[in-house]
Amino acid sequence: MVAEVIVDVAHSDVDKIFDYVCDETVVAGMRVAVPFGKSAATGFVMRVKERSDFPEEKLKRVFRKEDDFPAVNAECLALAEKIAARYRCPKALALRLFLPAEMRTGKTSERYRSFARLSDQPFELSARAKAQSALAEYLRENGETDAAVLREKFGGALKALTDKKIVVLEKKRILRDPYRGVEGERTERALTLAQRAAVSRVDETDKTVTLVHGVTGSGKTEIYLTLIAERLAQGKTAIFLVPEISLTPQMLSQLRARFGEKVAILHSGLSAGERFDEWCRLREGSARIAVGARSAVFAPVENVGLIVIDEEHDGSYASETAPRYHTFDIALLRAQHNGCKLVLGSATPAVETYRRAKEGEFELITLKERINRRPMPDVEIVDMRREVRRGNPSAFSAPLREKLDRCLAEKNQAILFLNRRGYSQTVICRDCGYVAKCEHCDVSLTYHSEDDCLKCHYCGARYHPLSACPECGGTHLGYVGTGTQKVAGELKKLYPSARILRMDNDTTNGKEGHLKIIRQFADREADILVGTQMVAKGHDFPSVTLVGILDADMSLHFPDYRSGERTFQLVTQVAGRSGRAEEKGEVVLQTYDPENYILRFAAKYDYEGFYAHEIAMRSATAFPPFAKIVRVMITGEDEKEALEALREVYTKLQKIYAEETDKFLFFNKMHAPVKRIQNKYRYQVLMRLTDGSPLRRIYDVCAESKFKNALVYVEENPSNLS
Ligand code: ADP
Ligand code: ZN
Repeated sequence: MVAEVIVDVAHSDVDKIFDYVCDETVVAGMRVAVPFGKSAATGFVMRVKERSDFPEEKLKRVFRKEDDFPAVNAECLALAEKIAARYRCPKALALRLFLPAEMRTGKTSERYRSFARLSDQPFELSARAKAQSALAEYLRENGETDAAVLREKFGGALKALTDKKIVVLEKKRILRDPYRGVEGERTERALTLAQRAAVSRVDETDKTVTLVHGVTGSGKTEIYLTLIAERLAQGKTAIFLVPEISLTPQMLSQLRARFGEKVAILHSGLSAGERFDEWCRLREGSARIAVGARSAVFAPVENVGLIVIDEEHDGSYASETAPRYHTFDIALLRAQHNGCKLVLGSATPAVETYRRAKEGEFELITLKERINRRPMPDVEIVDMRREVRRGNPSAFSAPLREKLDRCLAEKNQAILFLNRRGYSQTVICRDCGYVAKCEHCDVSLTYHSEDDCLKCHYCGARYHPLSACPECGGTHLGYVGTGTQKVAGELKKLYPSARILRMDNDTTNGKEGHLKIIRQFADREADILVGTQMVAKGHDFPSVTLVGILDADMSLHFPDYRSGERTFQLVTQVAGRSGRAEEKGEVVLQTYDPENYILRFAAKYDYEGFYAHEIAMRSATAFPPFAKIVRVMITGEDEKEALEALREVYTKLQKIYAEETDKFLFFNKMHAPVKRIQNKYRYQVLMRLTDGSPLRRIYDVCAESKFKNALVYVEENPSNLS
């Protein structure tokens, strides 16, 4: 037999099939060790065939199988080929997505344990050998038993009996169970009418994709779990994707309570060994529901009956390393291959997703009410310019102070949210709320201290830094930011007896860092939680009745065409943390731009209004989904070589531009806004296309451009243009 092998060296020079002679136990999807060049390499068997086009005596032999099972199933092999073609990456790189990292490093720490049982051989023990008799009796009664347990109970008797061949030992693989002890209680709930209707709609529609657009607390999770249980009953498997941050202890125990060992949960809190074992359980079929962040879309399950992407708008679904895939695209391929449904859920769908649903490509289910008709919290918009004028320069407005006083007096909890993303880079006038924007792109400018200028990340335009506000002449211009630490400090002074917790990148070190803080807050060990983005998502704190958004503007002015969308999502998510239980919640939204339409719509929970406005603007300014932003990045440690690479790539891209000019709204080469990161110089060719049709050729150019000391890659609609 002959195996067609892709060698696992992520270098496109070797990105082709090599034939190796193998025996008939080698099957497609297996990993094998093969001779390669002067040494050995691991490879993936893509196919097995009777004979090669090359004379067999010229072929080398497979050394050995790396595993005795196919690590990549047939569906995933085909999927890997599609991914490699779509993103023009080496096949080996695409195949790696399907394996737990531990397997590739070759250090899989499978855990084995010895088990003892009686052999078939008849035996008689002397009456004096009491321990041995007792042990034999124990095994007769209990059957096969962990040898360690027996050693503990019966000491040396075990060795004595194995020496006499009365007892045989056998090594068995142990799968680590990371969730021992996380046995939540199963709460049986009858679905509400709206939930039931949603479940039926997903089942009955002939569309592959359904978008469940439901306000926070409308019971979407219960809909997913019901659908998953249905598929399980049909003997199928399911994939349930959530942002990493939503994999809270509550969520894990809920899943375990409902599905027991049928669920495998892949999250970053697991050790490499645990992840590997969860992966094995899925591959072997003993677990049939894969739950996890974006990489769980590559779970080794077969006969998939449902894929769910919860919080589908979340930025974490786009991969930031090669291949730069979007989880939705992979999920759709898998759904199509398996002939199953793909369900997207969100309280604030991505504008692009919502458009596809509105236009009929996806089934659209809308849930307008929270479970038990619990009201959404009231949102008060506070004008911070007025606070400045009244001589209050602090981070807390008078209305927020008042509400905070009351909240604490009533022994409830409060969350203060600080939106630090891009904070100190955007220039804002604290007198009138003016924000410096690009004249050509209507995107806010970013201050770069290294060359003391304001830059537009979308067209590269540069502006002088401002000394006074062009709108009102005011001089209270600021890049000034307030960090969580500063806020917590100020709070401490205002409320000396309040217990304050802080959650941000500084305080959540370690795998479980943020979980620890969440637990503390949920256990009411603190009265006020001050935090960044991390506090926004999914957590259920019943005693929280007040949420303060200290600086709603800051994500609004992030230099990203999606900043409006992101802000709407963030405000909705944060507001959703308030008033989850009996007491009605309140939200204070502080801003220098109180008339801003996005904040206005968010304060009223008016997604439709927001969408209508946003989509009209995207259409008018030709931004996605009405255009495609493509960035070709060139990075390298040597400035000259990187620059040469840029010139070469640019020249090739120019040819495409010349031939398809009508497809280009923008085309230029430049320094990346941040010129150097981690010692690598960064250049870019930035393009805005009317549609994706030239993409194929752009990818081809980049795949074919190889440089010794420069890296070239393509980004589609990147969310970060720094
Ligand atoms: P979403 O995912 O839409 O934000 P959740 O699924 O978290 O909403 O549900 C919100 C709350 O309502 C949760 O506390 C959940 O336990 C509860 N819930 C969901 N479905 C039901 C139901 N059918 N009956 C009673 N309570 C429910
Ligand atoms: Zn611009």
